[in-house]
Amino acid sequence: MAMILRPCPTCRTPTSWEGNAFKPFCSERCQTRDLGAWSSERYRIAEKPQEEDGEGWSSEVEGS
Ligand SMILES: [Zn+2]
Repeated sequence: MAMILRPCPTCRTPTSWEGNAFKPFCSERCQTRDLGAWSSERYRIAEKPQEEDGEGWSSEVEGS
């Protein structure tokens, strides 16, 4: 069976998926990096309404 090499989404290193627990990533480090980016993106979206609240509150403090 031919080895299938795919570029790692994080670092673009050609990576074999055969027996690779971290596919499509080349390593646990790249998998964690990608998941981290995803979760911080979701966190930022979830935080948006609170950020607006915080801005109003902090400008009030600055005014007084
Ligand atoms: Zn990688």
